[in-house]
Amino acid sequence: MKIFNYNIDIFDLQLLVCVGSNENDIKKWADKNGTKEFKILVKQGLPMFNDNTHNSGFVYRTTDKNGLSYYILWLKKHDNSWECLDTLLHEIIHIKQEKFKACLIEDEREFEAYFVEYLFRVLRRELVKRLKLNK
Ligand SMILES: [Zn+2]
Repeated sequence: MKIFNYNIDIFDLQLLVCVGSNENDIKKWADKNGTKEFKILVKQGLPMFNDNTHNSGFVYRTTDKNGLSYYILWLKKHDNSWECLDTLLHEIIHIKQEKFKACLIEDEREFEAYFVEYLFRVLRRELVKRLKLNK
């Protein structure tokens, strides 16, 4: 189980990455390490954890009262295997979809591809580092 906060510089996007953790783990993490905003959001409840259609991962976006967006990227597991990288890429595309929709960005094909590539690179590296995996 691993939970960490990751800030995506490009959009100042606040991302909470949760690997193999449940609602209770995230609540505990937020109490100890969460920013004020994340604590408030977690206190509001994490309804996505009651949706059992998620198999290997999901992305959840929520917005605070100041209009700042927070993203939760939940992965059932991550061991840098092909299967886990497939899931990571799938969920990154959902982050891209949510973020571009929220920012009203349309028809920026090259930027879209770059953004997905960038997220895949930085998140994969961060997961390897945080979970102490072999590259
Ligand atoms: Zn999906």
